[in-house]
Amino acid sequence: MWVYLNGQILKENEARISPLDRGFTFGDGVYEVIPCYDNQLFLFDEHLKRLKASLELTFIPLTDEIKNLDKILLELQKKNKFLNQSFYIQVTRGVDEVRAHAVEKKMHPTVFVTSQELQKNPYRIDPNQEGIKVRLEEDIRWHRCDIKTIALLGNTLPINDPNKPKVDEIIFHKDGIINEGSKSNVFIFHKGKVLTPSLDQNILPGITRGHIIKEMRNNDIDVHETEISIEQFLAAEEVWITSSTKEVQPVSKINEYTLPSKNLEDSIWYKVLKFI
Ligand code: PMP
Repeated sequence: MWVYLNGQILKENEARISPLDRGFTFGDGVYEVIPCYDNQLFLFDEHLKRLKASLELTFIPLTDEIKNLDKILLELQKKNKFLNQSFYIQVTRGVDEVRAHAVEKKMHPTVFVTSQELQKNPYRIDPNQEGIKVRLEEDIRWHRCDIKTIALLGNTLPINDPNKPKVDEIIFHKDGIINEGSKSNVFIFHKGKVLTPSLDQNILPGITRGHIIKEMRNNDIDVHETEISIEQFLAAEEVWITSSTKEVQPVSKINEYTLPSKNLEDSIWYKVLKFI
């Protein structure tokens, strides 16, 4: 696999990052994930805008590389050759001379980009198959989940708990209210309306979330950005998650509870999948 690191396209095993990089020592960096279908970047401007927002909120300077990100991605895309790819762009504050919380000198951010084959959404291949399994967990993350930080321990810890049954996704809640998945946003269809947590709720402003909300509104599907209680979540007719790599995927099981099955042609999630 070919990767991009600080101005160069290299073989993955030739890329070198200092152990004093603050991404390694402090998780001090942000990232972005951009899908590419049939060699076309999908919602690139929206992703770039969010990356710039993450950089601004973390006081990491915007480098020329970020300004030319589309060119870097297309170059990497040609090298890695997959028709459908997902690009991971990681930007850290850079390399420190000594390990210290405070940044003493002007630093140059480390920019690292990888791409991997984007697997076809299994629910495009067979939308009738059983949906994903999720588990509800208390949201233990920090209060700035709007920043797409590389420090993801709060997101990765619950899904890797060896004492709990294996699931596809964790759905976080706080004070009885649903927030988002550990790597996705969440939607429900309940009492004739589509509901999704509002951006005021310490969640990531998902690009897929934003895109499908816009498309639902263009297609007269009633969608509300609002609080969803755990009770509403468990009483929903449909639950689905969204992300750039998963697109739209229906949920069939929440903890031990199995959602009632529904005819595909009447399912809102299936209509929404077609917006991508
Ligand atoms: N929430 C979290 C915590 C995520 O990690 C992701 C995936 N990056 C999302 C939501 C979905 O965001 P997007 O649609 O931009 O991929």
